[in-house]
Amino acid sequence: MLESTMPKIYDLIIVGGGLVGAGLAVALHGTGLTIALIDARKPSSDDPRLFALNKSSCQFLENLGLWDALAKYAAAIKDVHVSHKGHFGAVRLRGHDVAAVALGHVIPAYKIETALNDRLLALPDVTLYRPATLTTLTEANGMVTLTIASDEKNIRLQSAIVMGADGTASIVRDQAAIAAETFDYQQSAVVTRTRLHRSHLHIAYERFNKTGAIAMLPLVNNDYHECATIWTADNAKASELMAMSDAAFLEALQNEFGYRLGRLQAISTRHFFPLRMLCAEKAVNQGVLLLGNALHTLHPIAAQGFNLALYEVALLAEGIKERCAKKELFSITDLQNMIARSEKQQTVSMSVSHRLPQLFRGTSMLTSLLTQAGMTAFDMAQPLKKIFINRMMGRTGTVPRLLLGANE
Ligand SMILES: Cc1cc2nc3c(=O)[nH]c(=O)nc-3n(C[C@H](O)[C@H](O)[C@H](O)COP(=O)(O)OP(=O)(O)OC[C@H]3O[C@@H](n4cnc5c(N)ncnc54)[C@H](O)[C@@H]3O)c2cc1C
Repeated sequence: MLESTMPKIYDLIIVGGGLVGAGLAVALHGTGLTIALIDARKPSSDDPRLFALNKSSCQFLENLGLWDALAKYAAAIKDVHVSHKGHFGAVRLRGHDVAAVALGHVIPAYKIETALNDRLLALPDVTLYRPATLTTLTEANGMVTLTIASDEKNIRLQSAIVMGADGTASIVRDQAAIAAETFDYQQSAVVTRTRLHRSHLHIAYERFNKTGAIAMLPLVNNDYHECATIWTADNAKASELMAMSDAAFLEALQNEFGYRLGRLQAISTRHFFPLRMLCAEKAVNQGVLLLGNALHTLHPIAAQGFNLALYEVALLAEGIKERCAKKELFSITDLQNMIARSEKQQTVSMSVSHRLPQLFRGTSMLTSLLTQAGMTAFDMAQPLKKIFINRMMGRTGTVPRLLLGANE
């Protein structure tokens, strides 16, 4: 394989052009920084996931100028309804309670990826290396040198700052010697789209059961009523769900979810995602900073992963933009301080995502009564609900400007 001798030098290198890496590159446009973005794959429309984005994340996409391209695929979530199969009591979270038109939106992940990539192609300050795979990362004299394999040749790139947004199995994290804690939930998610006889009325449902939970989220479809189904279950049950015929799956879904959305009509192709938690021991080592799934991979039950990552991206982009506007240099320590402002949000998102899958699984009478009583009490406690709804919308603590609307 050919190797370039002199490394190409950038102000910033981002490894991983998934939603998080691409989101950061787009958000940094206008800083005047030279940025390299590396990804092992070309952009594709293969991702079948359907993301529930909170109000802040939608605002972020709007502030990047991407909402015009996304709005037609984005279904508003006006209310959230949480219940537990076989138990009384439910929690209803209404946008109306906090004077919000929508708590968030559900958007196909590949539409967000397409919008980000279309924008990236038009940015002169971002050099794209894709498909190109990071193979080595070394650090010396305050500079990080990367070797990437692209088109039968090795290319060397150099920067004082490298962002690792290369996903759960991050090579950047390994090569920067950042340890990570992992937890295998022994659960998987089965994702599909479910056709309905009637409108979803923009309500997002989450129904817990003994082996996991079923989320039914509103979708935009101009031809018929449809919602996204994310069924998380123990691995054995999830494999069983994948092996069923469409008719048997639909019947199982109707039995477990009930009739809140009426009689379910049909499902589309099912997709399978094994679930595990990953939490890097630290975000920064020497000239490397981790982001997104490389930093923390969360159980999707509370739809927090991408929302949390965008909060961190917004903190970084805002901090970097301020420095660049004042023509001030910044170091990896400055970035570490910027991202440290997300610690509280990170702790909350991680603990909710980690504990929820276990909370409803207790089979004892006591656990059952406590969750039932807890849900009923919570549903009646308006002030507590308002705090919770605002947190769900990403509207607590110091919210970076990039996540706020013009009038906020
Ligand atoms: C079923 C499911 C549903 C979810 N639903 C929601 C939701 O509703 N709301 C929400 O907020 N979050 C949700 N999430 C979480 C969300 O998927 C993640 O937070 C998000 O995808 C993280 O993106 P990322 O860019 O960090 O990682 P990735 O999407 O994994 O991207 C990593 C990128 O790095 C590239 N890469 C990897 N290795 C290399 C290498 N050596 N060299 C070059 N490039 C490399 C890959 O090609 C890839 O493009 C869900 C997750 C799952 C599994």
